[in-house]
Amino acid sequence: MKVIEHYENSTEPLISFEIIPPKRGGAVQDVFKSLDRVVEEVKPPFIDVTYHAAEAYVEELPDGTLKRRVRRKRPGTIGLCAAILHRYGIDPVPHLICEGFTKEESEDALIELNYLGIHNVLAIRGDNTGSQVSLNLNGTVNKYAVDLVKQIRNMNHGDYLEDIVNAEPTNFCVGVAGYPEKHFEAPNLDWDVKKLKDKVDAGADYVVTQMFFDNAAYFQFVEKCRENGIDVPIIPGLKILSTENHLKSLPKYFYLNIPDELTAEVDANPASVKDIGTEWSLNQCQELLDNGVPGIHFYIMGDPQPALNVISGLRGR
Ligand code: FAD
Repeated sequence: MKVIEHYENSTEPLISFEIIPPKRGGAVQDVFKSLDRVVEEVKPPFIDVTYHAAEAYVEELPDGTLKRRVRRKRPGTIGLCAAILHRYGIDPVPHLICEGFTKEESEDALIELNYLGIHNVLAIRGDNTGSQVSLNLNGTVNKYAVDLVKQIRNMNHGDYLEDIVNAEPTNFCVGVAGYPEKHFEAPNLDWDVKKLKDKVDAGADYVVTQMFFDNAAYFQFVEKCRENGIDVPIIPGLKILSTENHLKSLPKYFYLNIPDELTAEVDANPASVKDIGTEWSLNQCQELLDNGVPGIHFYIMGDPQPALNVISGLRGR
């Protein structure tokens, strides 16, 4: 089923998850071990799987020469999505990124997903990881997520990149990313919300937000989106602070603010960071649910336990 249909058909807020594929060479069984618990305890309607751009790095060869290499650290998004559908019968949502892909490669990936019976995609730009090969690609690259959304919408109308007569239309539901604290490259939130509106006008069915720790940012963001005519569901994305290091790493990698109050609580009692993070997230979820959010999307990366603790805490309230 399409993600948007899950939201439209549900009378309850939906709990969903986002996972990352294992590192190259890692065991998919480890992902299944986590997902077995998630599925048993929550049975989410859909599970997102992130996509990872290839990264450039320099390797020193035995003779001392340096070689520039490019490789994807976490390959296998589409395969993992197929495995999730097969193993759990739960709708997987692969992320597709613009970064490092030509439009032709994106079209190939979408054809593959269509054959697999996967009809949901989160269309994302990705970030520059230094892997872009400096070929003259003559405009065959999607620069922004909105360009990828347009490409998917075109395929849904049977318009592939080449003029193919009687091409089979695809049937994808498309999600996009939104940023309550604005995207780090955007000059201001108003400007960023207008760019989000472009993605929705291009055919995005729903928005998932970047993680945030202050609900006020989400509520103001949603208000601004509505004022700008964005009327699709805006799903709050949450991560649970569970290590002291998160106080530094989350703002660094995701360009978000951690409220002073939360920082002060952890600073005062670092040994209890897991409990503090759980309690904070519980209160965040409760307030979001009380205010009628369509669902909550948990970023669990490799470890579902913090999110499962919060969900069981919510049930106990
Ligand atoms: P866009 O919507 O393209 O926006 C990027 C920036 O460009 C914004 O500042 C926007 O305001 C600006 N912009 C948009 N259109 C234009 C235009 N026409 N002209 C000028 N400026 C413009 N990264 C991964 O690598 N893999 C993942 O799987 C992944 N999943 C994610 C899931 C979610 C829910 C979120 C919130 C983020 C995810 N990311 C992922 C991170 C994402 O790749 C980065 O945040 C990236 O920097 C922006 O992606 P986007 O799709 O929001 O980009």
